[in-house]
Amino acid sequence: MNKKVLVIGSGIAGLSAALRLAKRGYQVEIVEKNSKAGGRLNQLKKDGFTFDLGPSFFSMTYEFEEFARDCNIEMPFRFIELDPLYSVHFSGNPKTYRLYKDIHKLAEQFREEEPDFEAKMEKYLKKCAQLFDDTVDIVIKSNFDSIFDYLMHLIKVNPSHLGVLFRNFYQQLKLHFSSKEVRQILSLVAFFLGRTPFDTMAVYTLLSHTEFRHNGYYNVEGGMYAIVEGLLRELEKENIKINYNTEIISYKEHNGKLEHFIDNQGQNWKADLYLVNGDAAVFRGKVLDRKKYSTRKLDKMSWTMGYLTFYLGVKTKLPQVDHHNYYLGSNFEDYARKVQQDPGTLQKPYYYVNVVSKYNQECAPEGCESLFFVCPVPNLLQKPDWSDKDKIVDSIIEDFSGRIGQDIKPEIISKTIYTPQDWEKQFHLHRGTGLGLSHKMLQIGAFRPSNIDENFKNVFYAGASTVPGAGLPMGIISSKLAVERMLNYKAE
Ligand SMILES: Cc1cc2nc3c(=O)[nH]c(=O)nc-3n(C[C@H](O)[C@H](O)[C@H](O)COP(=O)(O)OP(=O)(O)OC[C@H]3O[C@@H](n4cnc5c(N)ncnc54)[C@H](O)[C@@H]3O)c2cc1C
Repeated sequence: MNKKVLVIGSGIAGLSAALRLAKRGYQVEIVEKNSKAGGRLNQLKKDGFTFDLGPSFFSMTYEFEEFARDCNIEMPFRFIELDPLYSVHFSGNPKTYRLYKDIHKLAEQFREEEPDFEAKMEKYLKKCAQLFDDTVDIVIKSNFDSIFDYLMHLIKVNPSHLGVLFRNFYQQLKLHFSSKEVRQILSLVAFFLGRTPFDTMAVYTLLSHTEFRHNGYYNVEGGMYAIVEGLLRELEKENIKINYNTEIISYKEHNGKLEHFIDNQGQNWKADLYLVNGDAAVFRGKVLDRKKYSTRKLDKMSWTMGYLTFYLGVKTKLPQVDHHNYYLGSNFEDYARKVQQDPGTLQKPYYYVNVVSKYNQECAPEGCESLFFVCPVPNLLQKPDWSDKDKIVDSIIEDFSGRIGQDIKPEIISKTIYTPQDWEKQFHLHRGTGLGLSHKMLQIGAFRPSNIDENFKNVFYAGASTVPGAGLPMGIISSKLAVERMLNYKAE
């Protein structure tokens, strides 16, 4: 065998696919436009501080375990289970809600707001578990050869779930819970798919099952970039070379096959098979010149929100702040409903704060803390101008200082801001959308850009905008699905 594969991009899906292929005897090489591996799963080192750039926790560790078994390696990093999963703070409410996995313990948190919480939550989670069990193998972990094939898979899903196709995430929660606090807190997981609970289908309440039961949230010892470092060590053992600062910008075809790709220096990259880890829709449009993915057509597709992220190094300790925290504005519903259309609503945002140095002391100098803020915001289609970024960031820092009862402004010794413009530029994310294509009905399964190219049968895709979707565990599954396709490839 010993076929040569070129992997374009070193995100989680590209790196994991490269290792799966190398372990099967393929000769693999990677090109990456940036100077560092990892894609969005990256790290920022500055002024003595270390920050996770994007992902800060994840679910479905068993997908990583399956990957390690598939590659016959020891897990190259160590998971740290989060319990409580995260803390939530409402504006004007001094109470801290801690989200424990133990439902009995969790019920204590909502004793006043939702007195019969435990029974309601058990009922809600039972429905979420059924949704998960009835769809995960059939829909999420499968390749589809056509829309017909996909529909045949969908027919196998238990018809009792039909209702969730016609409700949004928030409406589903309203059926189960009456308090604003419980509904809003349990709806936060919808943001993991890059949209709001008001425009995410109720079928994704299956994520509540992954949050609380199967199998919670995890961090990695040493910070999230330890995942990339671990994968790089394994790739090195297989002598896989990564060519950094190499951006693929064009191609040459021959007889219905991709002959070679061409990089920004004019160098040709030739292989038998190609795996694209750059965004599957953007790459088809910008590099392969497909009309279906022209900029105008891309703009018409449904995309996820943008992220405004910022990274603060402060010369003080913040013992009163937990590791993972959500701070909700007083206008959560209004804000979440309008976030895509009305940039003005940024006055009172919802934001997430991760104190990276809390359990990874090497991430900050002694007596200091590394803080990572994530705020979901309109992408560049809705808000192209970010000249007000400092104003927005200052207002969040002001709000955060008020909520934790300590003014951090004079303590800031390192500050870096990433707007959707920076995310777009650094990782080729269309209009700065954080998670790529959205997961609405007509953009999932066989309706998502396929992981096998329409025109070139030796070109495949793995990553957030192809099947199954966004997030780190989905990246691992995506690499499995793409490799499955590649193993079936027959050269003529
Ligand atoms: C702010 C933020 C927070 C997030 N938080 C979480 C979280 O907590 N948990 C979670 O599970 N997920 C989270 N995600 C989502 C997660 O980061 C992504 O779904 C995942 O990392 C995507 O991996 P990927 O392999 O699809 O692509 P990417 O990470 O985008 O990697 C693709 C790589 O391809 C390279 N590339 C692109 N085009 C070319 C080209 N033409 N030539 C050469 N190289 C190219 C890019 O530079 C990049 O390195 C978050 C995302 C963001 C932005």
